Amino acid sequence: MLPVPMARTLGAVLALALFGPKTIAQEQPAATSKPAVAGTLAPAAKTLRYHLQVRLQEDGRTIDGTCRLTWRNPTEQATSELRFHVYNNAWADWNSVWLRQARMFESQPRRPRAWGETTLHRVRLIESGATEGKTQGEEDPEDAGQELPWHYLAQPPAPGPGPGGPMDRTVAQLTLPQPVAGGDRITVEWEFTTVMPPAFRRSGSDGRGGYLHAVQWYPKLGVFEVPEGGGPAHWNCLPYHYLTEFYADFADFQVELTLPERYLGKVGATGSLLSDPERQADGGWLHRFSATNVHDFAWTADPDFLVFQRSFQARDHRDQTEEEKVAKALGKHPSEVVPGSTQMILLLQPEHREYRERYFHAMAKTIYYYGLWYGPYPYETITLVDPASDARATGGMEYPRLVTGGVYKGNPERWLQPEGITVHEVGHQFWYGMVANDEFHHAWLDEGFNSYSTHRVLDKAWPPQRQTYDVWEHRRYGRRPAPAPAFAGNDARSFLSLESLPWPAVDPWLPSGQLALRHHGSLEVFLAELPFLTYYPEVERHAFYGLRSSFDFHWNDPLAKPSYQVLGWEMRTVNGYRRPALMLESLARLMGEEAWIRTLRDFYQSWRFGHPRPADFAQTLQIHGEGLGLRASHEAFLPLDWSSLWNQLYFENAGLDFAVKRLLNQPSVTDAKKIDGFADPETGPWDVTVEVIRLGDFRAPVQVEILWQDGQREWHLWDGQTNWWRFHQENSPRRVQQVIVDPQRQWLLDRNWLNNSLRDRPERKRSRATGLRTLLWAQQIVHYFGGLG
Ligand SMILES: [Zn+2]
Repeated sequence: MLPVPMARTLGAVLALALFGPKTIAQEQPAATSKPAVAGTLAPAAKTLRYHLQVRLQEDGRTIDGTCRLTWRNPTEQATSELRFHVYNNAWADWNSVWLRQARMFESQPRRPRAWGETTLHRVRLIESGATEGKTQGEEDPEDAGQELPWHYLAQPPAPGPGPGGPMDRTVAQLTLPQPVAGGDRITVEWEFTTVMPPAFRRSGSDGRGGYLHAVQWYPKLGVFEVPEGGGPAHWNCLPYHYLTEFYADFADFQVELTLPERYLGKVGATGSLLSDPERQADGGWLHRFSATNVHDFAWTADPDFLVFQRSFQARDHRDQTEEEKVAKALGKHPSEVVPGSTQMILLLQPEHREYRERYFHAMAKTIYYYGLWYGPYPYETITLVDPASDARATGGMEYPRLVTGGVYKGNPERWLQPEGITVHEVGHQFWYGMVANDEFHHAWLDEGFNSYSTHRVLDKAWPPQRQTYDVWEHRRYGRRPAPAPAFAGNDARSFLSLESLPWPAVDPWLPSGQLALRHHGSLEVFLAELPFLTYYPEVERHAFYGLRSSFDFHWNDPLAKPSYQVLGWEMRTVNGYRRPALMLESLARLMGEEAWIRTLRDFYQSWRFGHPRPADFAQTLQIHGEGLGLRASHEAFLPLDWSSLWNQLYFENAGLDFAVKRLLNQPSVTDAKKIDGFADPETGPWDVTVEVIRLGDFRAPVQVEILWQDGQREWHLWDGQTNWWRFHQENSPRRVQQVIVDPQRQWLLDRNWLNNSLRDRPERKRSRATGLRTLLWAQQIVHYFGGLG
């Protein structure tokens, strides 16, 4: 999901006032979604099969029926229990772990509009044993029937009144009469009723019998596995925590879903529709879905949906440069890496019809680029759901083959909403959907990889729209906020615009600004939209640089800290998304694009339909990073020590901050006998000293660029193991004009780029420009807060 719910920003309101809503194109939606082609994937590893037969009641939020599942114990160890997630019970009362934690984490805890709840009526043993045949098809009725004991698992810690404390009901434990040995199977069947809450935190309905987003709606088996670091297999099945998402095994699903007539043809699901819906005796409509190799099954329905379908074809989205780069890195022909087609389904709210093309475009770009980089999207369909306006809490979420977007009316194209949310959620099909890590413990393995990939796509598919023009020999950048008359170059208008400050003078341009403002973008949007006076300073605009706002936080938890145990939501945002995305982009820049492409592709391909752990990525990194390192101007080479880097990146909480400490051009001694026997400070020669220091504890190699007076640039290397590095040269015929540590910005993890460079002499032109800019910013900020009223 996205780290924060999308919020309508002040800037959005302002822009709406300035620009008005876009003209809505008139087009009739498709009548109904047609059945997709038969599955092209092999069935899941025969570990898990679900067969759900359920009915949605007239109220549009009560689902009841049966959930039959066949599980094969994939370990070598027997177990005499099964554990299930019953996460809809997080909304059943204030005793749930989720709501208790919400009250702890949020100063003003949100509350559901009404409770939701899953009631497990009973569970029967259908069959167990070593043979597979018996569980295929209908079982012999005589075999069926034995009711099994089960209970909700008390969750430590359970503080509070009463014996045993408040009772969470999000994990059910079922006791088996006979243990299931390694490799053996068991089939059980639950009878259950789920009442979805009015939309709250990822799941629910609009509460009025319309839109429904059914997630975590059935008893879902936990994962029986060997723990990280080895030991006997155990059930990894934690309760629903405030800071975490989900973890389950890959399975094949058969879902028979009967819905009230108003939902006919207005349904989206993880699976493919197998046939046309069938009318039932009671007037309901039966929809049959199947899905292979997915680890969850979500569905959604809304009588108001506009249903659109479109085939994704790579040929409509070719990026020749990127294709050639990937093909070269993999030693393939470009035609071998171009992703194949798939069916895109868009379920759109009528009031958001204006976004149809933008949603489709963003879906297609994601399927194209992720497919190109990592491997083709293998399922027949991908469904994107635009949540109802009164159920926005279900937006910005990912489920296998089905994701939710979310958008407000009137967003101009350059805001990239709904594009950003769409790329992120569709991208989760790869990181989460297929490479399916344990999100309780390692949220960064999907969110971090996906944030990294999202930003790469945004950079490729929507390069910043900026204008460049020269005025008085200064290059200026800006994004024209409103149509303005065209001027010839070198005109007075630019005097009022903001001149670009070339790095290293500014970073980020709100260094310690209010994160909330940065995050929601309202201030940036405000500045960008303020007409005529302001040109948004496009200072080395790069999608990743926005992630550096996470340096506003103290990173108090190492990346290795289990996600459900980090300090709070902000730390989850940093450790789940931004920090790992910055880390991955840093690694990419250190390794070079080709080796990096191989690294990520290998990791993806190796763990597709599997559950990787952090050590698996570390190992992939080690393999592909072997022999790579940093280069200097003069043949020097410094190999990268991947295990040291990994330890610091993952286990330690060390901060990385390189800085230039000193740049000194000292007139050399020309007469050693004279007290002031120095060279002319203007003509030299000089004794030159450059000092670079490490302010953080993170020890890493880095390049240092020395720019000489005559324009020559030299790259030196520092291994970063000691606290400082010095370059000293006596009787130099030229001065050092500028020093930059990490000139290629390989280390996006460097907490402060402001101290990465030092000049010999201040640049007057730049300081004048800074003064002017500061004045204008001050004016705009006063304007901004004045407008808050
Ligand atoms: Zn996400």
